[in-house]
Amino acid sequence: MAEPARFPRVPFDVARYVAGVSSGRECFICRIVSGADTRHEIIYRDEAHIAFFNRFPTLSGYTLVAPLEHREQVVADFDLDEYLALQALVHRIGRAMAEVLPTERLYLMSLGSQAGNSHVHWHVAALPPGVAYRDQQFAALMADDQGYLDIPAAELARLAVALRQALEAQRE
Ligand SMILES: [Zn+2]
Repeated sequence: MAEPARFPRVPFDVARYVAGVSSGRECFICRIVSGADTRHEIIYRDEAHIAFFNRFPTLSGYTLVAPLEHREQVVADFDLDEYLALQALVHRIGRAMAEVLPTERLYLMSLGSQAGNSHVHWHVAALPPGVAYRDQQFAALMADDQGYLDIPAAELARLAVALRQALEAQRE
C-alpha cells in the first residue's frame, strides 16, 4: 500500500531544472510570494510565512515551508523568535500532514544552494509505510534518479483542502 505507487513517475530533467534555477531570474520562492508564479498550490500563508506543494514531488503531499522575506541562511538570517515561528509552522504542517497522509515517518530538512534556490525553505514530507529501506531517507526525497510523481491536479487540490482543514482544526 505504499503511497508512491499510486501515481506514475515522470523523469526529472535535472539539466533543465539547474538551468532554470541558476538563470539569474528572480528567486523561485519570491516569485511565488509575489504571485508572479502561480504554478504551485499554496496551502498556507500568513504575515511572515508561506507553505506550498513541491512542483516535483517524490512523495504525495511534499510541502515546502518558507519565510515570505528572502532570507538565505537557515539559522544566521533569523533571530530566535523568527526561527521558532518558522519552526512552529513546520510543526503544524507536519502534524496536519500526518493526519491526512499515511505517515510511517515524517521527513524534515533544509538544503538549498547559493547557485540557485537560495531562499530558505524547509522540506516537509511524509514517508508512507511499505517503502523498502534502501528507498527511504534521501532516496525517497530526491527526484534526480527516480523522477517525480505525476499527481493529478484534482488530487493535489483535494489534498490541499484536507491539509488546510487539518491546520484550521489545530486552532480550535
Ligand atoms: Zn527569495
